[in-house]
Amino acid sequence: MEDLYKILGVDKSATPAELKKSYRKLARKYHPDANPDDKSAEAKFKEISAAYDVLSDPEKRKQYDAGPAFFGGGGGHRAGAQGFDPSMFGDMFSGGGRAGGAGSGGFGNIFDMFGGGGGGGYGGGREAPARGSDLTYVLNLSFEDALKVITTKIAVEKNIQCQTCHGSGAEPGTSAITCPECGGRGVVAQNQGFFALSAACPRCGGAGSIIENPCHRCGGAGVVRATKKYTVKIPPGVKTGSKIRLKGKGQPSPQGGQPGDLYVRMEVAPSPMFHRRGDDLVITVPVTFPEAALGSKVQVPTTNGDISLKIPKGTQNGRMLRVKGKGAPHMKGSGNGDLLVKIKVDVPKDLNKAQKKALEEYARLRDENPREELKS
Ligand SMILES: [Zn+2]
Ligand SMILES: [Zn+2]
Repeated sequence: MEDLYKILGVDKSATPAELKKSYRKLARKYHPDANPDDKSAEAKFKEISAAYDVLSDPEKRKQYDAGPAFFGGGGGHRAGAQGFDPSMFGDMFSGGGRAGGAGSGGFGNIFDMFGGGGGGGYGGGREAPARGSDLTYVLNLSFEDALKVITTKIAVEKNIQCQTCHGSGAEPGTSAITCPECGGRGVVAQNQGFFALSAACPRCGGAGSIIENPCHRCGGAGVVRATKKYTVKIPPGVKTGSKIRLKGKGQPSPQGGQPGDLYVRMEVAPSPMFHRRGDDLVITVPVTFPEAALGSKVQVPTTNGDISLKIPKGTQNGRMLRVKGKGAPHMKGSGNGDLLVKIKVDVPKDLNKAQKKALEEYARLRDENPREELKS
């Protein structure tokens, strides 16, 4: 027998909250909407759903924990012992989808769980058709572009509703019929072992309905792949990982519900000069020993032209000087972060004779041991 805990990636002591968390993560990853055309993901998704169906129900979980013999599927020596009632599994794929539209596939409703503030539990969303899934588009930006407002066009490959069948998947003039194999339940009872009992119907793949005359254009999927172009305005100050949401531009709902959202995720190229620390920019500026010791004014580049920066006398190597408002723009609100100037005292490696002599003279005049404080 399959280990249901293993399938959900948790151990036997997992709390209901841990189970749910792990299940959600896996369900998202393997959801058929996120893996179109990937049969193995779909199979995995069903496996995960079936495992969660059992383990999320305290009664079923207790029975499962009691061992395989209980289910009459193990060695057979308990043959007949109350058998196992497949109806205990509920109708795991029966979410809100079926009512929504013929041939719409039974998966969509799972996203009801993920939406909103965590209200509805499993199967809580029968009234509202499932929302389409979200899409993510990765936008590469140069370091400089990320600091200013830019407007760019993106081309996103996504599903759009098939215009021939209007999303039903059935050839115009025909419609989907209730699956004769499972009677619309989407699951079938089988004889070998506990886990097989919750297997998705092989005929309809869990959808509960089948399309006898698939739409010639989309092959029954109800959607076709298309490249859609969107114009996106990127606010200044985005960084790698920043996201912009285009509401309703994600995948269409398989059941005529709300489409998902499209997220544009930023990938900002590094700069050879500046390093971002939140909205602050860090730059390393070399200064000579005399500049640091005597104090000076040096030219420092910013993302918006050079500035003149005062180096106080006695500045130590590694000191950070802050220049207000010369960092990256705040994405929210107005104003900018700061420029942090990290001072690097440069030690010359190529002294000529005269310079060496001068330095030796300096050392003689100075006559100090800075390591005095290390002696205790
Ligand atoms: Zn079609
Ligand atoms: Zn079926």
